[in-house]
Parts: sequence; C-alpha cells; structure tokens
Amino acid sequence: MQISYDVVIIGGGPAGLTAGLYLSRAGVKTLLVEKAIPGGQMSLTYQVDNYPGFDLISGAELSRKMEEHAKKFGLEIQTGNVLSVDFSSVIKKLNLYGGQTLTSKAVIISTGTSPKLLGVGGEKEYRGMGVSYCATCDGPFFRGADVVVVGGGDAALEEGLFLMKYVKSVTLIHRRDTFSAQKIIVDRVVSNTGIKMMLNTVVSNIEGDGNRVTGVVVRNVETGKEEHVAAAGVFIYIGANPATGFLEGAVKLDESGYIIADELMRTSVEGVFAVGDVRATSLRQIITAASDGAVAAVSAERYIQIGTAYA
Ligand code: NAP
Repeated sequence: MQISYDVVIIGGGPAGLTAGLYLSRAGVKTLLVEKAIPGGQMSLTYQVDNYPGFDLISGAELSRKMEEHAKKFGLEIQTGNVLSVDFSSVIKKLNLYGGQTLTSKAVIISTGTSPKLLGVGGEKEYRGMGVSYCATCDGPFFRGADVVVVGGGDAALEEGLFLMKYVKSVTLIHRRDTFSAQKIIVDRVVSNTGIKMMLNTVVSNIEGDGNRVTGVVVRNVETGKEEHVAAAGVFIYIGANPATGFLEGAVKLDESGYIIADELMRTSVEGVFAVGDVRATSLRQIITAASDGAVAAVSAERYIQIGTAYA
C-alpha cells in the first residue's frame, strides 16, 4: 500500500502547528488536517498576555504567526474533518468526511476540546440567536446591550472582560462563591465596574421571544430564590469536552474522555501520539500545547526512523 505521509497531524491548534513546524523543519513528510481555521481555540481568544516573547498579542495574530512559521518550513495544511480512524496495523488510516482516506506511518492527535453545554431550556433553541460559546466571534453583535456570562473559570472571566469592549453590562453568573480562574484575571473582573456578579447562582432557563434571547431565569442555590435577569446575550463558558468521538475506542482515554499519553506523548497505540488540550493533563495553556507538540514531533520522528519513540 502506498503511504501518503510520514506523519498526519489531526487538528491545527498551537499543539498541532508546533508539531508540524518541528517535523517539517526536520524534513519529515507531514500533513496537518484542520476542520476549520488553523489556531483552534487560540484563534478565538481576544488577547494573549502569557505566551513568552509576546506581552500582548491577539489570539488570531498569534495563530497566523504559528501557521506561517510552520508553512515556511514546508508543512502542508489541508482542510478536512476526520470521521474515523483505523490504527489496527502499522500503517495508520484516517477516513475523512467526503470519502478521502489518508495513510501514514504515525499520527499526532491534537483535536482539542469543544464547549460544554449548560443543558437548560432555551439553550439549543436560541443558539446563534443570543446564546453563544464564543465572545470573540459574537461580541460585536451585542454593542450597547446587557449580556450574561455563565461560568467561573479562566475562559468565563476573560471573555466577560473582553465583552465589556462592546456591551453596556455583563452579569457574571457562577454556581459557587469562589472562582477557579487565575487570581490576576479575577482581580481584573472585580475591579471592572461594568461587570456585576451573581454568585452561588445557576441559570435554570434561557428565555426569548421566539426570535431572540430576552433573558435568563436564575436560581440562588443557597436560598432557592428565583429571579429573571434581562439580557440580549448569554455567553456560556462552563468548560469543555475533549474532541475524541471520532476515535471510537482506538486509543485509551481517561474517565472524562481525554487521551492518556505519557511524557513522550505516546498513547496506548504505537505510532499514535496525543498533544494539547485533548490530552489528559493538569495545565491547558498555549505554551503547554506548544511544548506537547514539540515533544510529540521528536517522538514521532524517532518512531519512524527506528520503530520506537525512545532515543
Ligand atoms: P474550567 O476551568 O473547567 O472552568 C469551568 C467553569 O464552569 C467553572 O467555574 C465551573 O464551576 C463552571 N461549571 C462547570 N459546569 C457547570 C455547569 N453545569 N453549570 C454552571 N457552571 C458550571 O473551563 P474553562 O474556563 O473553559 O477553561 C478550560 C481550560 O482552559 C482551563 O484549563 C483553563 O485554565 C484554560 N484557559 C486558560 C486561559 C488563560 O490562561 N488565559 C484562558 C482560557 C482558558 P466549578 O468551579 O464550580 O466547577
């Protein structure tokens, strides 16, 4: 069988792009398959201030730079969506939507995560009509409006701050009275007078007029008291699910569905590596994703050369 590539990378966030840069620079024939635009979640991040060497850069700009950098070394990037995989033999097969099959000696999975849904009434009905999971994409549509943001992690608080560029007010609704977000981000939110907090509070329903969101019903988890909060937009940032559905048991996952990989980024299948947010790990940042990508590239290169990722 003719093998299309030495390595196919699935997913073009910072982990996949870094793996692609390292492999292409090393002269390894590599293809990166990305279903949307290179950069992944990073490309939708308003500002990045913790990637070394860039004290302030937009996520979109950093994504462009990473893509151009990898392409400069010869990385091929194809738009495509992987439907299923076959890792049962030495030659790895990837089946794409549309019928194309790619074959390679090694695969690097860097598919990241997708937003978790709240699971309340109105969420699906009003998706794209006021319910959003991407402030960077949709924030400009809410100029001068009152919006709510749900969640208490880094994403909810950062995106709440970002939305203040456009909106009249943000009401941050969080189910506990402490945040899991980094202190520096919490401090910025607390000192922003346009952001109102509703703590120990959950959203029990998203309401609308049939065309657009008009508000949310919230419940205080301590008192049980319910109230209506008027809002034109509901931005949901309550964490993420790993994008591993297409693997259908092909590699070992943890109980939350993240891919288990060791310090060389090796999964349970020889020649298959996992990097970035989709990997079971304790820290999910652009820098840790990029680091995973570099390690996996070297592991994959060694695996192709000598049949093992060990030096
Ligand atoms: P996260 O850290 O998992 O936080 C999820 C938040 O949503 C928590 O406050 C959680 O509350 C809340 N939540 C979860 N399920 C909920 C539900 N059903 N109803 C209401 N609230 C719910 O997720 P994230 O903020 O999306 O961040 C994901 C990863 O990306 C993290 O590792 C984060 O550090 C990283 N990230 C980093 C940056 C940065 O460094 N600048 C920016 C964005 C994201 P509880 O605390 O009560 O569980």
